[in-house]
Amino acid sequence: MSPLVFQMAYTFLQDGLRGLYICLDRSADETIAHFKECGFNIDHFTEDYSLFFLDFFSQSKEALIDSAQLSALLYNPDESFRAIAQFMDWIKNGFLIIDTISTFTLNLETKKAYEFARALKLLARTFNLIIIAIAYTSPLDAQTVEMLRSVSDANLTFKNSTLHVSSFLGTISSSERLIVTKNERGRLVLRRILPSSLSEEIMGKLEETFSKTQSLTLKPTLTSTTTPKIDLPIEKVKQALEKLSKPEGIVEAKPYCSSITCPNCDSQEVYFYLKCPDCDEILLEKGETLEHFNCGHIAFRPNFEREGKLVCPKCRRELRQIGVDYKQVGAWYKCTSGHVSPNVQLQFSCIKCSYEFDLDSAKLGTQKKYELNEKGKQIITVNTHQQKSVFTSEIVSSEANRGKL
Ligand SMILES: [Zn+2]
Ligand SMILES: [Zn+2]
Ligand SMILES: [Zn+2]
Repeated sequence: MSPLVFQMAYTFLQDGLRGLYICLDRSADETIAHFKECGFNIDHFTEDYSLFFLDFFSQSKEALIDSAQLSALLYNPDESFRAIAQFMDWIKNGFLIIDTISTFTLNLETKKAYEFARALKLLARTFNLIIIAIAYTSPLDAQTVEMLRSVSDANLTFKNSTLHVSSFLGTISSSERLIVTKNERGRLVLRRILPSSLSEEIMGKLEETFSKTQSLTLKPTLTSTTTPKIDLPIEKVKQALEKLSKPEGIVEAKPYCSSITCPNCDSQEVYFYLKCPDCDEILLEKGETLEHFNCGHIAFRPNFEREGKLVCPKCRRELRQIGVDYKQVGAWYKCTSGHVSPNVQLQFSCIKCSYEFDLDSAKLGTQKKYELNEKGKQIITVNTHQQKSVFTSEIVSSEANRGKL
């Protein structure tokens, strides 16, 4: 955090702004040394008092030595405020840095701390100041952290060397994550970590997942769903519709289509893969395929393409006349082990019981269509637009491609 604040302060000073630096966690001398370590020599700004250090840290150190009482370390908000206020005319239109406000508020009740923070904000408005308050959130209670956030115009949070801009008055984005890096001149620069189109909600969920596992796989599945969609677990919907379709019920069930069902547990939730018929490979390519009659070689068209001509990669002879020495055999599949085939096998894996099966051993289930009967129509009022809608429980293949993020 310090290097970023130092850099901001240095930029303000170079722009001719005057500032007050309130030291609570370390002495002014240490802070000036720290500025230098980060590559910012502020000597000439301190010499002409463009930057003035209010060293509460050294004052409390002396008070502690003199009184030998821990209470000497407590900051009195009124006294401190008075000390700060006398610099206002000098730093007008400039900036004020509090390093750190957590040390200050640590000994204050939330209400007192809030009054102090609000007084600072009023100062900032009155004297047109930029106030930067550094806070270590871990020693503070959640209430104080929230209070400090709410009273600020902008909140920058550092966590694991990334900077999270949760709010910044006057900017469009209300939530942004940035990575802090150094450029070739040793200056800190902020870069967006995530594409700006990613929402905080999605990123939060992905982060939660990746914190538990290192990899995430997109798998194609066959599942039951309804049209139109109902936001309820499908099993519950099915059970309810079956109950409603019992004799004397309000809906009529009609068989609609057949679907794949796990032969082991009857579940309809299955992963669905395409498999090479010659091996177990489930990663395949599909492409326009040519067959060379002379040698019988069959491969995807790009394998034959050589400088505008078609040349057989196996026998090295040029392909001359379609239908005479070669033919297009259509779209074929090739697995990563090199097997080329006009067909693929269907491979299923039950999501519920992990049982693996192919189309031959799959069980067929029946999906139904449920329609309101006369009795149902009297009970459930339907307007003319909705009259056409019927609930169909059908099987869909998700569009998700198999692959890794
Ligand atoms: Zn199963
Ligand atoms: Zn294969
Ligand atoms: Zn050939």
